[in-house]
Amino acid sequence: MSAPRKLVIAIDGPAGSGKSTIAAQLAKRLGYINLESGAMYRAVALKALEQKVPLDDAGALRALADVTVIQLEPHGEGNRVLLDGRDVSQRIRQADVTAAASRISMHPPVRRVLVARQRELGANGGVVMEGRDIGTAVFPNAEVKIFLDANPFVRAERRVLQSGVHSLEETQRILAEVAARDERDRTRSASPLVAASDAAILDTTHKTIAEVVGEIEAIVKKAVRS
Ligand code: C5P
Repeated sequence: MSAPRKLVIAIDGPAGSGKSTIAAQLAKRLGYINLESGAMYRAVALKALEQKVPLDDAGALRALADVTVIQLEPHGEGNRVLLDGRDVSQRIRQADVTAAASRISMHPPVRRVLVARQRELGANGGVVMEGRDIGTAVFPNAEVKIFLDANPFVRAERRVLQSGVHSLEETQRILAEVAARDERDRTRSASPLVAASDAAILDTTHKTIAEVVGEIEAIVKKAVRS
């Protein structure tokens, strides 16, 4: 019997839709590599903040991305992220980097550099890649495309729980941040956040992680057989 085909599984969706956790668990169950494309935008954003590169200077940001080495290594429920060899896994999740990543990702030249890297990483299949444009731009021929969504309040609530800070101020800040990122991601002209026409759209609002992972696994099994 031949070995099962190693697919590319594209998972897209807005912040708080459950992408990261679901992609990590799915990859583990399938024995696939899990790649968080957002971590790459975050890593370039961190370097831009550190080197004081203006976040609206597309040319300078592209040049910066060009000379930046980003490694995503499997680690626990996600990726360990190395920026030019330095572990920035925690740092890139902080609010200033989150906002900066959302801004630099609007520039087509920056996207071109990172999309090319993402394609290289997924070239051999056997990957679950999650982001905003994986099914539409990075791997338009991915065998499995999933678009995860959830009610905006539930998505913000999930982010609040992840942050571990439960003050009213923090909740309001995260609600505003998620809304602002959504708006930028959905309305930008370069690869906006939108479901691919052939993606399966799953609403995670009232579902557990295990339920969603199970549903995607069933879709993957069907795709492997076809
Ligand atoms: O997924 P994550 O929240 O880590 O992504 C950080 C930011 O990077 C997003 O707000 C989005 O603007 C950008 N991004 C993107 N395309 C991707 C992944 C992330 O534009 N494929």
